[in-house]
Amino acid sequence: MSYVDEIIALVEKQNPAEPEFHQAVKEVLESLRVVIEANEQVYRKDALLERIVNPERQFKFRVPWVDDNGQVHVNTGYRVQFNSAIGPYKGGLRLHPSVNLGIIKFLGFEQIFKNSLTGLPIGGGKGGSDFDPKGKSDREVMAFCQSFMTELCKYIGADTDVPAGDIGTGAREIGYLFGQYKRIKGVYEGVLTGKGLTYGGSLVRTEATGYGLLYLTKEMLKCNGHDIKGKTILISGSGNVAIYAAQKAKELGGKVVTVSDSNGWVYDPEGIDIKALKEIKEVKRERLTSYKNYRPQSEYHEGKGVWTVKGDIALPCATQNELDLEDAKALVANGVIAVAEGANMPSTLEATQYFLTHKVLFAPGKAANAGGVATSALEMSQNSERLSWTFQEVDSKLQHIMVNIFHSMDEAAKRYNAEGNYVVGANIAGFEKIVEAMNAQGIV
Ligand code: GLU
Repeated sequence: MSYVDEIIALVEKQNPAEPEFHQAVKEVLESLRVVIEANEQVYRKDALLERIVNPERQFKFRVPWVDDNGQVHVNTGYRVQFNSAIGPYKGGLRLHPSVNLGIIKFLGFEQIFKNSLTGLPIGGGKGGSDFDPKGKSDREVMAFCQSFMTELCKYIGADTDVPAGDIGTGAREIGYLFGQYKRIKGVYEGVLTGKGLTYGGSLVRTEATGYGLLYLTKEMLKCNGHDIKGKTILISGSGNVAIYAAQKAKELGGKVVTVSDSNGWVYDPEGIDIKALKEIKEVKRERLTSYKNYRPQSEYHEGKGVWTVKGDIALPCATQNELDLEDAKALVANGVIAVAEGANMPSTLEATQYFLTHKVLFAPGKAANAGGVATSALEMSQNSERLSWTFQEVDSKLQHIMVNIFHSMDEAAKRYNAEGNYVVGANIAGFEKIVEAMNAQGIV
């Protein structure tokens, strides 16, 4: 059996009932096959792949908190410190009822390669809890965050592990988490990113994942003879990534006609009204059903369906495995030219394969959505030098980083005779740096 197949089998055996983690490992190792086969003897001797697929450390803890009626609830907290070869662990905290160890491990594993691709010194980690902030009062969210941080603070620090936002963890949650960390540890340090601007946050961090997604998409289109101007764009999701992707897409001359949430989706043929979207999601924290109140000509549909709309560019910005083979077929039949993933692993393995064989330009999440974590690393730099950079300064750095990511994956794909396959390119480019750093540091 080849080394790659052996490791995939091992991961499945050692991590039962963690399908998302298996999927992420498969996607990465399959695309690294050529590199691994060329170095098989050395890698086997060093047990390189065994080390890469095993987190350096993982924590699972009880998070008790009291609701507004005095009822006690117990959630489970996680932090997986996956790989610190190139820097302190870095990655968000997901708060969503679906969270379990397998999901955090898939996200942490992806984060290693994503963070490497940014070119910045950040290792891979991820955490979260099955707590659902939806429908909770501010006080309940605070109670949860304080309890969660009371345990988490033992394992993190500005030079060891720096969490941030992800699904369900936004500015409000980061604020409560930061306050509790400071209170317990008595240190004011850049232990979290995505902080508010008054207490160490960076300009552009809020917009960064969505903006970065468009900067990379723009470069990918440009290098393949296309332009965003005048294109019809389909976006799924309506959280932080989707909102700022829609905003930047519009600024660049595209027309965004869809957004979605877990209950349904909106089709606005005139182009999504970003102001209304922000008001609904960021201020009122409402569902997308209220979008019609702002835009009577728009349509609201229950359930899935965004990918059945005709569009030139698809930007899945909701969550893992939201775009399956059927969706990919519908998009291709409708003439989609590019797909760039704003979420982490939103396309299933079959959907990704379908896009690649039908010559759709496909930018995988670990490259396309790396703008968020890259700007987090810029926030860390500003915290270390105790300075704040201007919006233009951070935004121009972000643009450079995204353009560089595109060219690193493009170049790596070409080097391995897989021109235009950015899945292979992104995985190889991310992996090469990790391997070099791991080798230099010995067997640890
Ligand atoms: N959760 C985001 C991601 O998936 C951002 C992580 C960070 O800023 O550390 O990359």
